Amino acid sequence: MYMSASFEVHEPPTALRLVTQAYASLLLTAFALMPVQLIAYLYFYQAPTLKFEDHLFHEIAIAVATLEGLFVTYVTWRCYKSSGEPLLRWLTLGFLGFVLIYAPHGAFTGMAHHNIWLFLLYGPASRLAMSVLLFVGLLSYNLPPDDVENRSNARAWLTWSALFLTVDLIVAWVAYSAYAGHPAVRLSLEGGALFFCALNVAVMLSRRIHSPLMVIFGVSVTWFGLSSLAFILGQPWNHMWWLAHAIFAGGFFLLSYGVVQAFRTTRSFSTIYSQEELMTRLAEAMAGTQSALEEVKWSNQKLERLSTTDPLTGAGNRRQFIEHMETEIARAKRSGAPLSLLSLDLDRFKAINDSRGHRVGDEVLCGFVRKCLEAIRPYDSVSRVGGEEFMVLLPGATLDAACAVGERLRSAIQSSAFDVGNRPSIDVTISIGVSEFGRDGDTLDEFLSVADRRLYRAKHEGRNCVIAA
Ligand code: GH3
Ligand code: MG
Ligand code: MG
Repeated sequence: MYMSASFEVHEPPTALRLVTQAYASLLLTAFALMPVQLIAYLYFYQAPTLKFEDHLFHEIAIAVATLEGLFVTYVTWRCYKSSGEPLLRWLTLGFLGFVLIYAPHGAFTGMAHHNIWLFLLYGPASRLAMSVLLFVGLLSYNLPPDDVENRSNARAWLTWSALFLTVDLIVAWVAYSAYAGHPAVRLSLEGGALFFCALNVAVMLSRRIHSPLMVIFGVSVTWFGLSSLAFILGQPWNHMWWLAHAIFAGGFFLLSYGVVQAFRTTRSFSTIYSQEELMTRLAEAMAGTQSALEEVKWSNQKLERLSTTDPLTGAGNRRQFIEHMETEIARAKRSGAPLSLLSLDLDRFKAINDSRGHRVGDEVLCGFVRKCLEAIRPYDSVSRVGGEEFMVLLPGATLDAACAVGERLRSAIQSSAFDVGNRPSIDVTISIGVSEFGRDGDTLDEFLSVADRRLYRAKHEGRNCVIAA
């Protein structure tokens, strides 16, 4: 309750919330489109002669990208195995396809001067394959999870791997064919990748998919698409061409960050919640916990009451009486204050039961406790220690004062009308034995038994009386 209240207190005004939300969306869009600035800058200031042709650097960079790609493929597959989300299956395939088709681009760096197409075409082919697979993945966003046994179907994964290797062979064939140098080949591969990335983002926007990881997905895909644009505009080894690599790498870093986040949390892309959703869920959970705690507290109190009270009359039971007496005796010993005890018993109660029935007897017992409580001070408790036997502990009362209380009680009961139903009211009287702690005994047992003995004497002396000596 406390926590949920503090959530409400910090709720900002609607206008400010809307403005900050719009600002956040604007920032995200600006970030997604940041490569556009770089592309525009390099496109307009492109120096065709400014080239950086370093084969070893390129080979190392692609080797690192391939290893990283393999790692991300593996982590994505682990997420998929755990959550079964179809999107993650396509994402795994997208990364796997990218790695298997892109690797020859690095491996054939040395061929750049012999057959530039064998070197160049694997790049756009890998980007096209990945963007198509990511797009199919997006279309399966939020579909029900795959069956557990299908997730590790080795045949399906091997078939896909074979397909990607076939693409490698087709690219090699094209590179050695007469079409290789035709600008349409590279343009259609790169343009295709750009097209699918744009389609991906358009579908995301139109379906209003904006869970946190999908936002990362959307931004990454935008960067992939823009890297294809940079590749179209840049010549091999030119600074624009390297920029295109960097933009693609940026997108890849971001998407793999999303994958790792998924792995570290719910292993799924759709059930990562936004901060707002988390806050709402947290507030709900806190409220739930709070009410559960209240309930536990309440039932504990109820249990406590049940274990210390007599269910018929609501008076304390013997257990509570003994505990109470131990506490009061200890206090009396410490402070030296007097402490007295009344032992009460209803007179000829069996006769009431016999003539009017047990139910009426019960009501008389309840009425008796009510009248006792009216007659004594609130902190002097009444306990039912036997069938129709009661004890009243009087902290602070000397024997004389306790006698006076006993007398008041006795006469109050005698003069009370016990009305049960429409039958004539029942005459009830009580006998009382009184004892004072210290004066009549220094232990709990003595203190009690003296009061009981005096009660016994009261019965013998004709009942309806108080005996204190
Ligand atoms: P005395 O004046 O000597 O105390 O006589 P008595 O009849 O009150 O004493 P006795 O001990 O012979 O009988 C007590 C009766 O109290 C017997 C029992 O049936 C009755 N009793 C005990 N507990 C309850 C109860 O919870 N409800 C009812 N209705 N009667 C009870
Ligand atoms: Mg009795
Ligand atoms: Mg009795």
